Amino acid sequence: MATMLLKGQTALVTGGSSGIGRAIATAMAAAGATVAVNHRAGAERAAKLVDDILSAGGSAFAVEADVSDEATIERMFEEIITRCGRLDILVANAGLQMDASFQAMSLADWRKVIDVNLTGQFLCARAAVRQFLAQEELPHLSRARGKIICMSSVHEVIPWAGHVNYAASKGGVMLMMKSLAQEVARERIRVNGIAPGAIRTPINREAWETPEGLEKLLRLIPYGRIGEPEDVAKAAVWLASDESDYITGTSLFVDGGMTLYPGFEDNG
Ligand code: NAD
Repeated sequence: MATMLLKGQTALVTGGSSGIGRAIATAMAAAGATVAVNHRAGAERAAKLVDDILSAGGSAFAVEADVSDEATIERMFEEIITRCGRLDILVANAGLQMDASFQAMSLADWRKVIDVNLTGQFLCARAAVRQFLAQEELPHLSRARGKIICMSSVHEVIPWAGHVNYAASKGGVMLMMKSLAQEVARERIRVNGIAPGAIRTPINREAWETPEGLEKLLRLIPYGRIGEPEDVAKAAVWLASDESDYITGTSLFVDGGMTLYPGFEDNG
């Protein structure tokens, strides 16, 4: 049985019904948290995940909301507090890509990616901070008053041609995370980021589903394998737990060495 690092805590995972979010929701439930699985128009997938978690003896429920819509986010938080009484962990994970060369990128595609990936994390983190400050502290469950994990990407530091909106959103997430961490550290709210490399999920299917695509991708990964959603989920459970209580304002790279400049492996 997994160690119950998050026993008795309530966690919200946005974009929780697929890919990395799904693995985090599953792992946090296995670690003893009650998990609110946020989805946007993915009720069936979310319901299936909730069923899987309940069958494994965990606790979870689904909540629908578009993370880029302020009123909907406020309603989602109210729903979670009505059900659980409190929130201890936010994993701001929902995200998307709308790729185009720079000269062809529409304003709509630029805005959509910034709205979901960056503003969506702002709205959820703001609602979480307000809730952490309003609720009673339970030090026997968690030394921190609350924990926020912002799902970033190696593209918070690696420029990415053809994906300027995405890289800008993740660079923004990184400095939002650090600035917020600085602002709320004295309240003992911990805010950290996870910066995954290439993880096998629907968002990047074309990069790994053919042998040629995978071979090309592996040239960028010194550790020699693509990441699995569970690699990120284990890091998320640890970052949300008291095991990492002295860590705030940090980006944890879960990338098999992708940020180690593999082009310089052979003397550059
Ligand atoms: P995914 O497409 O499976 O997951 C993204 C989830 O976000 C989906 O469930 C989607 O429905 C949800 N979502 C999108 N827009 C939303 C909105 N407006 N409101 C609520 N939910 C919304 O892909 P994933 O790889 O699991 O992505 C999860 C996060 O990890 C994203 O932030 C992504 O940028 C980040 N990431 C992924 C990788 C990778 O290699 N897969 C690498 C680095 C970072």
